[in-house]
Amino acid sequence: MKTTSNSFKSTCCYCGVGCGVVVTKETNGQLTLEGDKEHPSNKGMLCSKGMNLHYTVMDQSDRLLYPQMRLNRSMPLQKVSWDDALERTAAVFKTFIKKFGPDSVAFYVSGQCLTEEYYLVNKLIKGFIGSNNIDTNSRLCMSSAVVGYKLALGEDSVPVCYDDIEAADVIYVTGANPAWCHPIIWRRVEAHKAANPHVKIICADPRRTDTVRSSDLHLQIQPGTDIVLNNAIGRILVEKGYVDNDFIRDHADGYEAFVEKIMQRTIQEAADICGIQPDAIEQAAEWIGKANGFLSFWTMGLNQSVIGVNKNLSLINLHLITGKIGKPGNGPFSLTGQPNAMGGRETGGLANILPGHREVLNATHREEMENFWKSPVKIADKPGLTATEMFEALADDRLKAIWIINTNPLVSMPDINVAESALKKARFVVVQDVSNRADTVHFADVVLPAAAWLEKEGTMTNAERRITHLPKAIDAPGEALPDSEIIWRFAEKMGFGKSFNYQNVSQVYDEYVRVTAGTSIDVTGVDYDLIQKNRSIQWPLPLGQETYYGENPGTKRLFTDHQFYTQNKRAQIHAVADENTSEQPDEDFPLVLTTGRIRDQWHTMTKTGRVAKLNKHIPQPFVQIHPEDAKDRNIQEGQLVVVSGRRGEVRVKVQLTDDVRRGLCFLPMHWGKILGSNLGRANNLTNNLVDPKSKEPDFKFSAVQVALY
Ligand code: SF4
Repeated sequence: MKTTSNSFKSTCCYCGVGCGVVVTKETNGQLTLEGDKEHPSNKGMLCSKGMNLHYTVMDQSDRLLYPQMRLNRSMPLQKVSWDDALERTAAVFKTFIKKFGPDSVAFYVSGQCLTEEYYLVNKLIKGFIGSNNIDTNSRLCMSSAVVGYKLALGEDSVPVCYDDIEAADVIYVTGANPAWCHPIIWRRVEAHKAANPHVKIICADPRRTDTVRSSDLHLQIQPGTDIVLNNAIGRILVEKGYVDNDFIRDHADGYEAFVEKIMQRTIQEAADICGIQPDAIEQAAEWIGKANGFLSFWTMGLNQSVIGVNKNLSLINLHLITGKIGKPGNGPFSLTGQPNAMGGRETGGLANILPGHREVLNATHREEMENFWKSPVKIADKPGLTATEMFEALADDRLKAIWIINTNPLVSMPDINVAESALKKARFVVVQDVSNRADTVHFADVVLPAAAWLEKEGTMTNAERRITHLPKAIDAPGEALPDSEIIWRFAEKMGFGKSFNYQNVSQVYDEYVRVTAGTSIDVTGVDYDLIQKNRSIQWPLPLGQETYYGENPGTKRLFTDHQFYTQNKRAQIHAVADENTSEQPDEDFPLVLTTGRIRDQWHTMTKTGRVAKLNKHIPQPFVQIHPEDAKDRNIQEGQLVVVSGRRGEVRVKVQLTDDVRRGLCFLPMHWGKILGSNLGRANNLTNNLVDPKSKEPDFKFSAVQVALY
């Protein structure tokens, strides 16, 4: 597809599939949008959200247009100049840092941020303020997968690519509904299956979703039993001789302990715990064992769990014991939730990491970054506060100031009342956002208007390690600025101007690229000109060692030589406990609540909620429960019910469906406060339990009751 001077190639900024789009400025000033047929990730296809993306920038009715601030929260926000807003913010930050130390301030950022924005905030707080208090809403999304990859493969590295879909003959989807949440990937899977009917799709999910409807085998497990299931599949693979002994001998450790662990439960026992038939587990194992290409997809059902890391490891184990990794059609594939969750991790956008997948706890890594940045301070030698910890620390005044960038934690955080009371108590809150619909604006002392998608440039990395360039195509409204510029202007007000003296985003990108030299995500072969020219490249691509597939530079698959990123280059199979440590149901709260996305909305609806076409799909929040559970409670279809838990309640209409198991109910995650009440806010009910290693919250398992309102 040729672009004209009025058309621009960009990337959809919703989910981690990272579909290419072509946006055209029509002569009447309107924008039109279509899928980019030349983009390797989507080949022209777009889902309903992507097709309507341009409306989110054409409708500017909710845009924040100029900086605002107030001296206390009982006063209304007042329009101020950028200088005034940033000078006051810098003065407050400096005062807290001087009086209480650098850990008294924090940044809470977003997988919506571009790579360069992520990099700058990290550089500022870790290398110049001297705190690791930066975390991202990716903590709520991918951090269990990050730790799982590190423990099993040595680093946070997705080994596969989308083209592996067409090379697979068994696709195992677990804890994910890509038909709704990663639709373009799922269309590729469905097209592959339609052309190759022998391809088998297995789906493990307590709900019968649209993904399940196009699968060959539904393992409708009890929530929280994923590890029991995967260990049972592992046991059958071992007992039936589907294990790749050569691969294990040459490339993996931990097999003996793994076998000892999985033999502790019989298949019947595992089936009883999971609430499915043993035959179904046998069938899944048989298909996986015989597969030439075994690809597994997962998202939040595994990640958003108090045992999320172990769930990840139990799945990756299946690839390692069968050697089904590092070759076409084979490997574990975590589907990224946000468009740039992966790019954020590359730049060190979590409280425990540094740019280039370096670690805060590694003294050599800290020294490398201090030298690179010429830091005036030592990088702190302990991880900073993670997402949930930040709000807890605000609530008890350990943390004094928080700067929230492009995320809406008053809808997305677990046990939302904790986050809400924390923001009320916080001494200083800066909100940097595009939209006045962000619930956080009501708690802000300073509001900074940010440029939106198409109004700024930079890069993002999608779920298959593909870095894509996003150009600036239109001007931001009012005085809104690109997030990168806001950060470098603020750094200058903090007295770090010499080290943040950027004129444009390409300088930030090129600096980030130099940081990756010699790391396993080395992209020194991808300068800004090349990424603009090529549009997208899969990392790693070190300078002087450029690899190509077809005409494309980049690395399609990792670990093709079965040399992993661990110290001894061997993958690690883990024997993982299978008990779920979530909040348990009891007599008062006998049902399990799971939360998730619906097809046409994105996260907290600040964008998709403004698009009339998307709102038509499902216009209101709802709860789904099983008809038998409804009968026990004298509840009829469509009635208004109260879903209550140990922390709060919501009031929504009920849908009766056997798509959910008995004992389970489902609430969409998108709705926040509606007309000032808490009617549909799912996170009134979720809890603050987190996985001990990844610190990712347990969104998928909370004890609740449902009753007629
Ligand atoms: Fe956008 Fe994801 Fe849909 Fe692609 S699949 S168009 S990236 S929302």
